[in-house]
Amino acid sequence: MTETRQYGFDTLQVHAGSHPDPATGARQTPIYQSTAYVFRDAEHAAKLFNLQEVGYIYSRLTNPTVAVLQERIATLEGGIGAVCCSSGHAAQIMALFPLMQPGCNVVASTRLYGGTVTQFSQTIKRFGWSAKFVDFDDPQAVADAIDENTRAVFGEAIANPGGWIMDVRAIADVADAAGVPLIIDNTTATPYLVRPIEHGATLVVHSTTKYLTGNGTVTGGCIVDSGKFDWSASGKFPSLSEAEPAYHGLRFHETFGGMAFTFHGIAVGLRDLGMTMNPQAAHYTLLGIETLSLRMQRHVANAEKIAAWLETHPAVAEVTYAGLPSSPYNALAKKVCPEGAGGLFTFRLKGGYDACVKFIDSVEIFSHVANLGDTRSLCIHSASTTHRQLSPEQQEAAGAGPDVVRISIGIEDADDLIADLEQALAKAAPQMAAE
Ligand SMILES: *Cc1c(COP(=O)(O)O)cnc(C)c1O
Repeated sequence: MTETRQYGFDTLQVHAGSHPDPATGARQTPIYQSTAYVFRDAEHAAKLFNLQEVGYIYSRLTNPTVAVLQERIATLEGGIGAVCCSSGHAAQIMALFPLMQPGCNVVASTRLYGGTVTQFSQTIKRFGWSAKFVDFDDPQAVADAIDENTRAVFGEAIANPGGWIMDVRAIADVADAAGVPLIIDNTTATPYLVRPIEHGATLVVHSTTKYLTGNGTVTGGCIVDSGKFDWSASGKFPSLSEAEPAYHGLRFHETFGGMAFTFHGIAVGLRDLGMTMNPQAAHYTLLGIETLSLRMQRHVANAEKIAAWLETHPAVAEVTYAGLPSSPYNALAKKVCPEGAGGLFTFRLKGGYDACVKFIDSVEIFSHVANLGDTRSLCIHSASTTHRQLSPEQQEAAGAGPDVVRISIGIEDADDLIADLEQALAKAAPQMAAE
């Protein structure tokens, strides 16, 4: 597309990064199911390997279908470049990898996807990295947790599982003052509802498995760079600012400027960690993104209606949806995500653990699965599944206590969803059925 005007989100979600295929005219982005690409000649090959010319070598590093998706997500997020990878969890490791060394830490929110809490509190220790968990509702606590070994601050814009809102600007200011990048996991918000870079974030990570793909078909991840962080200012990020021995002494920041993080992610990250997205997955995610705004509008409209209905149900003790006027996060939601607070939230049942299990076993339209952001409505009892590996204290801090059910509202007919919830709640708490 000729960039003569600033296209709107709805146009970019369909067009950004894609062009009719130059060889065939194919209008939809082809699935370039090829491992390798023929070099024009020996000099061309040498230039590609030296990163003096951009092109395709081998699909562990770059693939034309995946490249379209990278440009599409980078554009929607307002970033300068993006690297796709095999899952959301891979994206988190890929985001931290250029920043961290043994002995370094990341300051992370207590309210994260359960798998991320485990990845950060346990698995990254094997790399000599560590995480400090703090309450991101308190920017001063974040400032106090940052020390001379902190290399990143990490939080979710709309936090899983409760759908709580993070004041991205306030935390970005804290990270800025300390000279470290803020990484936002924007999976549950999507760039349609929140563009963290506009609120001061340096990097955005996604599990594209969720709303971006939207149909529950493939796993994938993405790291978007704002291109705005000065990697050379502090000497804290030598893999980007100094000669990188893993790439024959290349200085990424000096050589690529704003694109340093993206090039590093491909040339070192994907090359050596190998967490590559395959072109089939990129294809499904590209199809999904074409309808992202339409789906998110319906997810939000349905979630608002259903959360308001649940809040009045006698079996329900609390509903966490930030789109509800009663939510302590409602004012922040209007500031951070004025288009809506997403489609994910939790509610607590007065009947506790047993009522939650009965509810989960009684739903008919809702599917009991460990996923979110599908066109289908989904539900799960976090304490016995996604947040099972966490201690009881971590579960409470993450908003996933034993009496909590998480729901991901789909795009079905809202009244059908309410009817399903009503019959399941009647079975879970027969003595408290709605009048
Ligand atoms: C699912 C999820 C992840 C992990 O993504 P995968 O694609 O499953 O690896 C990370 N963060 C959030 C908020 C998620 O919902």
